[in-house]
Amino acid sequence: MSSTRFNREFAAEYAQLVPQLAKRDAKRLRFGARAHGYVALPPSDAALPLPVPADFAAFIREISAGGFGPYYGLLAPTTLPERVWQVAALPSLLPDGNDEAAAQAVAGANLDPWPGSLPIAKLGCGYTALLVLNGPATGQVWLDARAVGLIAPITPTFTAFVLDGLHRSSHDMLPLGYVPLDVCALPNALAGYLAVWEQRHNVEPGELTSGQLREALANLGAGSIALAAQLATPLHAENAGVNPCVVCAQVVDRLADAGLASTVLAWHDETR
Ligand SMILES: [Zn+2]
Repeated sequence: MSSTRFNREFAAEYAQLVPQLAKRDAKRLRFGARAHGYVALPPSDAALPLPVPADFAAFIREISAGGFGPYYGLLAPTTLPERVWQVAALPSLLPDGNDEAAAQAVAGANLDPWPGSLPIAKLGCGYTALLVLNGPATGQVWLDARAVGLIAPITPTFTAFVLDGLHRSSHDMLPLGYVPLDVCALPNALAGYLAVWEQRHNVEPGELTSGQLREALANLGAGSIALAAQLATPLHAENAGVNPCVVCAQVVDRLADAGLASTVLAWHDETR
């Protein structure tokens, strides 16, 4: 696993590891497991319509063409819609990973999403991991959460992205969330709901007792909150139903003791 390029040796390890991880998560409770189901698609030597970084190409050809992977799983490049590849073919406007001001300028400029980069994983809440295909950041993986004004490099290579995901799954660690808590959809939806609950029950704003909080949260049944993409991307229609990002999933976990059902979020089948 120390190799920075994927090869057949790694393929054998990977083929053993994925079913082991699946066995340890029979109920598919680990973040993203319900989406990828620990199914790693077989490798594929189908031609890709654009040049891609060498480690990514090797992974597709030698290890797996998608499915199981970090967050909600690796998107299979061989089945990505043509429109996604057309977007990826445009020259990159992603800045160099070291230039924070330029990254913020891109996030704020409302440019077409993903020029010169390819989506490799959905991160939830409409956010995407992008593999940069050209320009100064070629080969890096970036977080695209421009719906909340955030676009930033997250790993220096695709290899690092995959190995970090494997490491976290193997050690029952959550993937990194990246997005600040206060900008994401679920905390805002809950705050809005609790504000209405307070009004209806003549409670001063922010003055809920723990008993009242429990009562309010207990009223939220399974699937009673549906998250939606705030911004259209080549993978998401505006307001399309999405599954939670890590940050929102953690909010649900943390409020379990306060009475919030673990099933409160509506599940969306985001397969294209
Ligand atoms: Zn979120």
